[in-house]
Parts: sequence; structure tokens; C-alpha cells
Amino acid sequence: MTGGREERPLTQNIRPGEEPLDIETYLRAGGYAALRKSLGGMTPEEVIHEVTASNLRGRGGAGFPTGKKWSLQPADVDARARKYLVVNADEMEPGTFKDRLLMEGDPHQLVEGTVVSAFAIQASVAYIFLRGEYTLAAQRLQRAIDEARAKGYLGKNIMGSGFDLELHLHRSAGRYICGDETAMLTALEGNRAIPRAKPPYPQISGLWGKPTVVNNVETLANVPHIVNRGADWFRGLARGEDGGTKIYGASGRVKHPGAWELPMGTTIREILEEHAGGMRDGYAFRALLPGGASTQFLVEQHLDVAMDFTSVEKAGSRLGTGTMIIVDDRTCPVGLLHNLQHFFAQESCGWCTPCRDGLPWVERLLAAIDAGQGEMRDLEILEMHTDFLGPGKTFCALAPGAMEPLESGLKCFRGDFERHIQLKRCPWR
Ligand code: SF4
Repeated sequence: MTGGREERPLTQNIRPGEEPLDIETYLRAGGYAALRKSLGGMTPEEVIHEVTASNLRGRGGAGFPTGKKWSLQPADVDARARKYLVVNADEMEPGTFKDRLLMEGDPHQLVEGTVVSAFAIQASVAYIFLRGEYTLAAQRLQRAIDEARAKGYLGKNIMGSGFDLELHLHRSAGRYICGDETAMLTALEGNRAIPRAKPPYPQISGLWGKPTVVNNVETLANVPHIVNRGADWFRGLARGEDGGTKIYGASGRVKHPGAWELPMGTTIREILEEHAGGMRDGYAFRALLPGGASTQFLVEQHLDVAMDFTSVEKAGSRLGTGTMIIVDDRTCPVGLLHNLQHFFAQESCGWCTPCRDGLPWVERLLAAIDAGQGEMRDLEILEMHTDFLGPGKTFCALAPGAMEPLESGLKCFRGDFERHIQLKRCPWR
């Protein structure tokens, strides 16, 4: 988090190193005003309209417009049928730690965002599907849920509105694939976490076959502020077309790794140099993955790209989670890619053949090259895999996501791959 004049609604209550606000302090800071405003005087359609007008796009990685996602429930769904809201808090993307900051730092903000969003889609049960290792977040969220229930902000007939919501905290047993929304629903039902074919989309047939919306933590944390202050205010926070602020992050050999709430559309250079403090002494910038491990590498020429969905896509990558992994000039990129592909191969759910068999094959080729036992034709085989495991060739986005850093890494670091093969060793060791 940083100071300055720009507004930072998501982190305004977060005090690093201190306990999060309890419900009394959160209320004194203006908390639960959006809950009272929406349940007390707005229709669900009005909440959806405001969120749609705000241009809030999903912060989990895909960037789907939130209001549109909420509106995709077909008209013929029985209005009295049970509906679910699932909060995707399974933050397992390598290099990503933004949702953790929000859940540990201001858990009531997420609880309030969940209640208001559940009201908008008329869900009567919500789950927070939390990464298993996030034990501190689990303790703080559970305390916040208990406090909110005791105040009458959860449960039956919330604030006398006639709206009921049960909110459950579910801790994941721990697989990366659970971050895929349909695999998450399968896991919540108590089954092996494998993705489902779409259509039908979860909005039509989700958890236990009922209409379900899955939203990311950061996405829902924005909702109370949009309801309180309006869509125009929210759009005005950003420097580009996408609305709001964004929790950006930087890891790697920068002086001050961390996460900062900044206007959506802040440039990579500003995040890297002003907020992360630039590269550590003795290290030079070489490349970055802009939004977690499953995005394409960007290089020096892209430093002035705005970190918003459209600009990063135009530069040839994806905003993803907005938390950057910085690659320096003293890190072997072949070793880095080997490490990443080891992770993806290990986390393949095994449901479809190209991913289950292809990712371990990719990992083995990279291990051989990294160890100085590779051949030039291995580079062609790796390139072929970026096609075999690309979009549309596998059952879900895990394998295509794994191919994004590989495909761009083979281009950006071609000379490094060739040197490993020619020297028959890693030049960095
Ligand atoms: Fe599972 Fe990988 Fe296929 Fe996704 S692409 S369904 S993770 S095997």
C-alpha cells in the first residue's frame, strides 16, 4: 500500500502488521453502509445495473465484466430456485498474493461485498472457497463471518429486508485446478476436482445443478464501494477505460517486493520503479510476467504499457492477476521455465490427455536442456507443444496457460536455450 492523494478504497482500512478492523471499528469507518443501502432501498436489478455501469471486470485473471456475469442467468430460471454465490479465494497462481492481502487485512470488506453481491443475484447460500494454506485468512474471515452473523448481517431476514443469506467458509484440500470455477464447484460438492464442460455455464447449472455465480475476492471487495459511491466515481478512479483501482504486485529481485493499490492502468514502469523501488543493486531488469505465471513474457520495450486488460493484451500478454514476476539478468530463464513447467505438470488434474501427458513431456525436455543434455531439435518439439497444448486443444485453461510463458520464453530467451545446448551446461552455474 502507498500514500498519496489518489483514492484507495480497497486498502483504506488495511494497516500492515496490525490486526484487521473488528466489526465495531469497521462500522465506525463506514462499513456495512453498502449492505444497508442495497438491502434497505435498492432492487437486485439496480445493484446489477450500477455494477455493470461501473465497468468492473473480474480480478481473478479472465477480466470478464462482473455485471454481465451476474446478468447471464436466463430469464426462465425459477426465481424461487436456490442459487449460490461462490467466492474464489483459492489464490494459487505463482507470484500472486493480492487476495491474501484483502482477506487478512480487511475481512469484513469481503463479507460485506459477498452479502451485497449475493443480494444482487438473489443467492441464498454463499461459500468462500479458500486456499488451504491461508490459515491466517481463514481465522480472520471466520471471525468476521461470526461477528457479521451476530449483528444480523448474515442469516435470516437480514436487516428486516426479507433477504436470507448463509455464508460458509470452505478451506480447500489444495490443488491449483480448484481455481478453475467449474473444478471448484466439483470440489465443493465433495468430488475429485476436475473441470466441467461448458456449456452449461455455472450461471445456469452450477453447484449441485443450481444457478451459481463464481467471483474472485478482489472483484467482490469492490462492490460495496461501487454501491456506496456510484459507477461514475468508480470509473473515474482508473486511468483508462476499465473501472476502479487494482491491487498490483511485484516479486523477484526488486528492492521492495509487495502489493499496492493503484489506479487501474498504472504503467509497468511506475509500479516497478516507484512502488517496487526498482531492481536490487547488482541486478538489471530483463523481462516480466505481468499477471502471474500463466501469462506471456514482456520485455524492456513494454515498460510503458498501462497495466489494464486492453493495453497488456495489445502488448501480447494478459493482465491476469496483475501481480508481476520480475526476471533479472542473473537468473537463468531456462531454469525458471523448467521450474514453472514442473509446477504446471504437477498440478495437471489428469482429466485430458494432451495436458496429462504433454506437460510432463515439456518438463522433461526443459530439465534435459537445463542440465546441458538437450539437443537443438528439442526446441522444435517444445514449440510443437505450445500448439498441441494451446487454446481449444485441452479441456480447460490450465495447459494453454502453462504454454503462455513457454511460447514467449522460447522467443525472448532463444539465445539462452541455444547456449545451454551448445555449451552442454547451464551458463549460470
Ligand atoms: Fe485437467 Fe489439464 Fe485437462 Fe485442465 S487441461 S482438464 S488441468 S488435464
